[in-house]
This record gives sequence, C-alpha cells and structure tokens, in this order.
Amino acid sequence: MTDMQTMAPRASEPAAPPAGGAFVVRAAEPGEVFTPERLDETQLAIRDAVREFVARSVEPRRGDVEARDYATHRALLRELGEQGYLGVDVPEQYGGAGLDKVTSLLVSEGLAEAGSLAVTYGAHVGIGTLPLVFFGTEAQRRRWLPGLADGSIVAAYALTEPGAGSDAQGIRARADLSSDGTHYLLNGSKQFITNAGFADLFTVYAKVGGEQMTAFLVPRDTPGLTVEAEEHKLGVRGSSTCALTLADARVPAENVLGEVGRGHIVAFNVLNVGRFKLAAGCLGGMRPAIDRAIAYAADRRLFGRRLLDFPLTAERIARMAERTYAVESVTYRSAGLIDGRLAGAHGDAEQARAALEEYAIECSIAKVLASDGLNEVVDDLLQLMGGYGYVEDGGAAAMYRDARIHQIWEGTNEVNRLLVPGMLLRRAMRGRLDLLGPAKRAGDALLSPEAPIEDGTPLDEELRQVRAMRTALLVAAGIAVQRYGDRLEDEQEVLYRLADLAIALFAAESAVLRARASGDGLQANLARLVVLSSIAAVERGTAEVAGRVQEGDERRMTLAGLRRVLRRDPIDGVALRRAVAAALIERGGYRGV
Ligand SMILES: Cc1cc2nc3c(=O)[nH]c(=O)nc-3n(C[C@H](O)[C@H](O)[C@H](O)COP(=O)(O)OP(=O)(O)OC[C@H]3O[C@@H](n4cnc5c(N)ncnc54)[C@H](O)[C@@H]3O)c2cc1C
Repeated sequence: MTDMQTMAPRASEPAAPPAGGAFVVRAAEPGEVFTPERLDETQLAIRDAVREFVARSVEPRRGDVEARDYATHRALLRELGEQGYLGVDVPEQYGGAGLDKVTSLLVSEGLAEAGSLAVTYGAHVGIGTLPLVFFGTEAQRRRWLPGLADGSIVAAYALTEPGAGSDAQGIRARADLSSDGTHYLLNGSKQFITNAGFADLFTVYAKVGGEQMTAFLVPRDTPGLTVEAEEHKLGVRGSSTCALTLADARVPAENVLGEVGRGHIVAFNVLNVGRFKLAAGCLGGMRPAIDRAIAYAADRRLFGRRLLDFPLTAERIARMAERTYAVESVTYRSAGLIDGRLAGAHGDAEQARAALEEYAIECSIAKVLASDGLNEVVDDLLQLMGGYGYVEDGGAAAMYRDARIHQIWEGTNEVNRLLVPGMLLRRAMRGRLDLLGPAKRAGDALLSPEAPIEDGTPLDEELRQVRAMRTALLVAAGIAVQRYGDRLEDEQEVLYRLADLAIALFAAESAVLRARASGDGLQANLARLVVLSSIAAVERGTAEVAGRVQEGDERRMTLAGLRRVLRRDPIDGVALRRAVAAALIERGGYRGV
C-alpha cells in the first residue's frame, strides 16, 4: 500500500505554461500537453493503491454505504485519511501531503467506483476542505485542517438556498454582528447540503447586514443550527443531502473565513477545484462502463451470435471510448496546466488558488465535457444491456441514476457553458488574452483556408482540422462581439454555442496531441473519432451563430468562408469505429488504452 503522506510533491508540469484560455487563440506545443502516458511510477502506484482501497475496503461495505449508514461513511473517510487520500490538497504543515493536481485527479478518478462514498469524499476534500486551505487564517488552518486531513472531522459546504442555486450571490441568509463584536447571529436556510447528516464543520455563506456576502466556519454543535431530514434522491442515494436551518446561530467573530464582504471570492475559487475534481470523478466512472459493456456483450447471446459480434454493438463501444478518450485527454491536460503554473509549489495554498483561477475556463470545460460524457456513456451501457440494464440487479441502473447529478451541481452545465465565453471575453478586456488580433486574422483566413500540414507525422490532417476549428471559433466569436457588443450577455443561445465550439476545439486538440505523442494506433483512431465528432459540432455551431448574427450577403460570405475552412476529405467513420471496437476488445477493455 502506498502511504501518500511520505511522498514528496511531484512535478508533472509542462515546460512553459500558457495563459488560461490560450487554446482558443493559438496552437499548443506538443510538450505543453500533459497526458496519462506521462504519469510516473509513483503516480501509477497511487492509482493502483486507490483502486485496491476500493476493492478491499469499500466493496465489502457497499451495502452499508448505499444504505446511507453514517457510521460506515465516517469509518471509510477515516481510513481514507489514514492512507493520506484526504490530505492530497492540504499543505504538509497542516497534516496533508501537498501533492500535485495530477495526483489529486488520480485519487478522485480512482474513487469513482466507490459509489456514494465518492460523493462523501468529493464534498469533504473539495468544497468542504478547500475553503480553509485557500482562505483560512493561520489559527483556523491549525485548528481544523489536521482533523480534515485525517478524517476525524468531516466537512460540508453550505452555499445553496431554496431561493438561490445558480444565482449564488442572491442568497438571503444573513449575519449580524453582536454589539460587543464577539460573534455573529446567522439566520436563514440552506438547501441540498452534501454530508450534512454527519458533517462536523460547515462552511456557511451569509450576508453580513444583509448585504456583504461572507463565509463562516460553523461547527455542527453551534446553538441555533439545525440539520433537517435527508432528501430522497434520484441517484447517489447513499450520500447525505439535507437542508440546514439557521435560527440565531451564534458563530464567533473569529470564524469568519476570508474577509467580510468577500465570500463570493471564497465560493467561486473553491468551485474551480470542485469542477476539476468532478471531471476526474466522471472519468473514473466512464472507463468501467466500457469494460462492463464489453464483458456483458461478450456473454450475451442473441440470434445465435454474441451481442459483441453485431456491428452496432461495435459502434456503440467505439462511441463510448471516443467520449472517454476526449474527457481523459482534456482532464489530464487541465491538471498538467495547473501543475505547470504551480511549478512545484504544490503545498502553497495561495499559488494553488491562483493557478486554479488561471485555468477556470479549462475547469469549466472539463466539468461539462466529463459530466455530459459520463451520462452518454452510462446511457449507452444501459441500452446495450436491454432489460437487464433497466433492472437494479444488472448494475447499470445505479450508474445511470448516479451520473445525472454531475450535470447539475458545481454550477449546472448551462451555467458553466455560459461562463466559458464570458470568462474568455473578460480576460480579453483585461488584457490577459489577445482575442482581438487572432479574431481579425481568423476573419482574413476565411478567404484562404489552412494549408495542409504535411510533416509526415500521423494525424497531420486531423491537426489541420483542429486549426480550422480554431479559425471557425474565432470567426464566430468575432462576428458575435461585433454585432452585439455588451448586449452579447443577453444572447444566451449564441454564448451557449460559442461554449460548445470552445469545448469541441479543446477536446479535439487535446486528443490529437496526446495520440501523436503516444504513437499508439488505437489512440490515433480514437483521436480521429474525436475530431470527426468535434468538427461536425463546429460546422453546426458556427453556421447557427452566423445565421443568428448576420444577414444577407454578409452571412452568405461568412458561411461560404466557413465551409471552405472546414472542408475535409470524407472518411469511412464506420470502418474507423469497427477498428476501434476490435482493438478495445482485443485489449480486454478501455483500461488497456
Ligand atoms: C444531491 C445534491 C447535492 C448538492 N450538494 C450541495 C452542497 O454540498 N452545497 C451546496 O451549496 N449546494 C449543493 N447542491 C446544490 C446545487 O449546487 C444546485 O442544485 C445547483 O447549483 C443548481 O441550483 P438550483 O438547484 O437552485 O437550480 P436553479 O439555479 O434554479 O436552475 C434551474 C435551471 O435554470 C438554469 N439556469 C440557471 N441560471 C441560468 C441562467 N443564467 N440562464 C439560463 N438558465 C439558467 C439551470 O441550468 C437549470 O437548468 C446540491 C444539489 C444536489 C441535488
């Protein structure tokens, strides 16, 4: 068993980290993209150790976990703490291991197979613990972090209210300072709080004087804090989700986390990590779904053949693998970007916060791509299993129900999509990213499409298509900004499509660069499939944006230019998918990729 506490911080960083969102304006250098193939031996050992932990410690108690037995959740968190898994993102001086984000990804990914325990774990180490890591005073960190890292204290995060979910700044909970300045009285209610049934420490958001959003550390035994009944949920039923009532809850003034009136900074920075970790957790659910699909289809016989031998089954398996490959490539690339920015200072909380903020766009993209991808993949698994997928005993039904929440929490996928172009434009306005120059050059390039890249390397045509996608995205963004200016905010349908273009571009580029570096034939075919889907999405999305924002000849010219830029030779996608499925079956599943 790997003891993570004894491991030195690792470096998995690329040479020169680009700015957040830079993939929109320029092609990445091959060495810039971190891939699973670059995991070192220690990281691989951690991945194996986490899987072993799930098999050895969680599997025998799965019934109790899913029955929401609080004692089992607490005991398993304690074991995770003893192994060092709760302290991955906690600096060493507070009892953690202060490891890199790739390792953090590996742990979240490995625990995905722990069912509802993964939710308990995710809320505890992510939104539960990180507010203190990033914003705690020295005294607060010393008081709470060692217990959070060893699992003796369980954390929860209470932002959502009955009247404010996505609109987090619209919370109504209020905090009033006592006349002697020693404590605050908190009043209001919180909704859907993970781990609330047994958490010891809540990060609660309330507005001081009804106006200044502020984060507070609120221990469970605080007078005036009531944890309400458990919710009955569609999925992740073994996790605890309760409302909180705050009725003159008396919180010492020293329990303010961060600054009064700056609670939104705490909330949003923590969500960046939450999104990244969520993507890793979704990825952890996607790979086993493929393996199960192959195993089931190999066993199931119909019309005198194995289900696995039908071409449509191969097509489904290839689609599942394509989605997974895209998510995997994007999630590891994002982790590598964050580690690159940290340049070895993994235990430095302020630097970690800044690095996550830098790559907030990539974190949102990873969240959307991974949660949508997981839902598609488990839907495919269930459908492949027919009626046996629909009944509880088959195993797919629980995966299907459990996957759905990931599109809702840590910012719904609609909110995260709207954030992507919003953040890009804000970065451009603040001079952190030059969008204007590349958008203008992209407009010119509509007249002269990307020259073929003929450097004799595999996937050179796909790389050209990635560049064409970038041009198309920049053109679409450029004409939208030109037409609407500040009013673009109200054109949500356009923003949504711009986000999808950015997601398609980031996924395609990440997959192609990874496959080129790997030199592996299966990976090359998976990358080809990712590009095939991405370019189709880009064609559709850019045409819709142009259709909306332009008219007459101008629109006709843009559409003709986009068609020229995105033009490609047709390929036999059916043969490609058959080849991918055959290779996966031969390797015994996706784990072999
Ligand atoms: C099981 C579970 C566990 C949770 N755990 C926690 C937790 O630990 N801590 C916590 O604080 N919260 C938690 N949440 C809350 C979760 O983060 C919210 O449910 C989520 O942010 C969405 O908020 P809402 O449910 O109020 O939906 P709403 O915000 O009302 O959204 C409704 C719909 O409107 C869409 N929408 C929202 N804004 C816009 C917009 N600007 N433009 C267009 N469409 C929009 C959304 O995408 C969605 O489809 C949890 C929720 C669940 C279900």
